[in-house]
Amino acid sequence: MLQQVNGHSSGSETPGKASLGEDLQEFLGQEAPLHQLDDLTKVNPVTLKTVLRCLQARYMADIFYTNAGCTLVALNPFKPIPQLYSPELMQEYHAAPQPQKLKPHIFTVGEQTYRNVKSLTEPVNQSIVVSGESGAGKTWTSRSLMKFYAMMAASSASCENHKIAERIEQRILNSNPIMEAFGNACTLRNNNSSRFGKFIQLQLNRAQQMTGAAVQTYLLEKTRVACQASNERNFHIFYQICKGATKDERLQWHLPEGAAFSWLPNPERTLEEDCFEVTREAMVHLGIDTPTQNNIFKVLAGLLHLGNIWFADSEDEAQPCQLMDNAKYSVRTTALLLQLPEDILLETLQIRTIRAGRQQQVFRKPCSRAECDTRRDCLAKLIYARLFDWVVSVINSSICADSDSWTAFIGLLDVYGFESFPDNSLEQLCINYANEKLQQHFVAHYLRAQQEEYTIEGLEWSFVNYQDNQTCLDLIEGSPISICSLINEECRLNRPSSAAQLQTRIESALAGRPCLGHNKFSQEPSFVVVHFAGPVRYHTAGLVEKNKDPVPPELTGLLQESQDPLLMMLFPANPKEKTQEELTGQSRAPALTVVSKFKASLDQLLQVLHSTTPHYIRCIKPNSQSQPQTFLQEEVLSQLEACGLVETIHISAAGFPIRVSHQNFVERYKLLRRLHPHSFSGCHSLYLAKGPSEWPLYTQEAALQPLLQDILHTLPALIRIAATPN
Ligand code: ADP
Ligand code: MG
Repeated sequence: MLQQVNGHSSGSETPGKASLGEDLQEFLGQEAPLHQLDDLTKVNPVTLKTVLRCLQARYMADIFYTNAGCTLVALNPFKPIPQLYSPELMQEYHAAPQPQKLKPHIFTVGEQTYRNVKSLTEPVNQSIVVSGESGAGKTWTSRSLMKFYAMMAASSASCENHKIAERIEQRILNSNPIMEAFGNACTLRNNNSSRFGKFIQLQLNRAQQMTGAAVQTYLLEKTRVACQASNERNFHIFYQICKGATKDERLQWHLPEGAAFSWLPNPERTLEEDCFEVTREAMVHLGIDTPTQNNIFKVLAGLLHLGNIWFADSEDEAQPCQLMDNAKYSVRTTALLLQLPEDILLETLQIRTIRAGRQQQVFRKPCSRAECDTRRDCLAKLIYARLFDWVVSVINSSICADSDSWTAFIGLLDVYGFESFPDNSLEQLCINYANEKLQQHFVAHYLRAQQEEYTIEGLEWSFVNYQDNQTCLDLIEGSPISICSLINEECRLNRPSSAAQLQTRIESALAGRPCLGHNKFSQEPSFVVVHFAGPVRYHTAGLVEKNKDPVPPELTGLLQESQDPLLMMLFPANPKEKTQEELTGQSRAPALTVVSKFKASLDQLLQVLHSTTPHYIRCIKPNSQSQPQTFLQEEVLSQLEACGLVETIHISAAGFPIRVSHQNFVERYKLLRRLHPHSFSGCHSLYLAKGPSEWPLYTQEAALQPLLQDILHTLPALIRIAATPN
């Protein structure tokens, strides 16, 4: 057997170049310094401690990418490293005969993916799943990969196509600043945190040129428009318009300099993301003209004024709540900007209409102050969510290629990672449910496939017990009874039910399920789900209401009366029967709950992923203070567990991470035949694995040195020949 450990120059050298000198040193028996190990499955022995030490050593040596078997681990540098993403380096990975020989990089994954599409007679769709917790670098990674593909598309386009290619790839890149302006916000964990999940399909034609792209978004955190945690901010776009509007625009949009808005906390902090010009420029590129842009920004300014409408408690329950002193101006301005009748706007916020009885009699009931606030917030969420979806659809219509002009796609998935906070609710349940599904996909596609292959190849193989999370998924989404079905049922029955009752129902209906944890010490009603990444306690208070996400029909009705062109498009007046249904709130089909909608889009996503060859990038945040050169082992460890990487490391290390076809091996190393004749007689694939080295057998022959060097460059682990001699 031959041992080879890839050579890695230290971080100060040009990225991408492996040095043979070091390889040989390695080969001649020296332990590689820890930071030079570019695959965590080669750390010896593979334990959490050694893996952490290796990642730490690399991080401190400014090496941010490390393989872990089939996964790439990406550490967030928290400092700009332009040379790591330069066009020259992209070109180097793109042009390399074997990019996997270069240092681990997201471009290796990018290039491999691109070649996979090409290498097969029938193009096979690829996907790259980028995961990690907030601030770990997912969006950065997918953005850099998009730039990489855009560069390749431009360089592969023929001269006459060049202009077109440049246009489409530029448009695809321009979708990023727009989506980030509308969907990202400054949170405690990331100044530019994506508040939605995103799957982008880069579409390639037969000639491997990028002809278009399609974006699908998931679960926009729309509550942020009306409610921001302390020290967090609203979506960037609101700050952009307030900071970047011209004098004229300020007048038009009623945004005088220094105006205070309740929904615009922390405006004094200026971020890099606050650049209005970049968003406007990108919008122009995607075909959103200036009048439409102005219309969008006017509506957003209207939302800011809506947020300043505050009510006082009513002394007489039969009377509507009065406006607070300054709120009259805000009602007028909101009505003006959203082009709504002022009196109806106010009335809709203050008074609930109920239709009942066979005659559909109308009852009007003044809302309490809290109810007024809820209706105001709901109006804002309704408008913002539709606006966001519409912006995404405009982006799609501008970048999506005709279905007959592309034959394969590369999908980039950038979704929230596993979350566990002191207080978890429906949002975390959805996110963690998605992560369970992705983990299962990972297990199914990679680990199981690997084991099956070993069996077919006749390799003896004892798999470490990897965790199949089906029982957890059954608990969350299974039929007939699961957490989702129980929460949905509460919505359907529409009965008053307390948080404690929901807890009891879940506990009794799902008693004995292995992944339902105990709840002994919690003061508040809650239940615990033991996820693959760890147990999470979900509070039941507000869960059912959040799942219903109710929109009072009067609010939709109000918006249908707007004279504003954008709102008219977002809220078209419905056909008569539909309006009736909406007004009565008694449509026969129950409104889809948040959970059901999420499940449907998740199922669709998984179906797409299943039809692709997947690749995985796990982003890791070395510290939660966003500091460069700071590696906190405990924080990293919990992330390695959360993304299932610990498991992956064990499995990959125990197996044979690399395979060469027998034919290729024979072709390349036929010279070795006289030394190891039986290796050349089998017909199975050759597996490269870890194990005791037998290489001195070869080095005794000086004449074989060049060949060994070749082998060193070709095979990144020990060779085990699984061929059956015949
Ligand atoms: P996520 O999408 O996982 O929440 P981001 O991709 O937004 O995280 O990254 C958070 C921040 O970390 C970025 O705004 C950037 O400042 C920094 N960052 C992430 N990846 C890199 C990188 N490869 N190089 C330099 N800075 C990075
Ligand atoms: Mg992000």
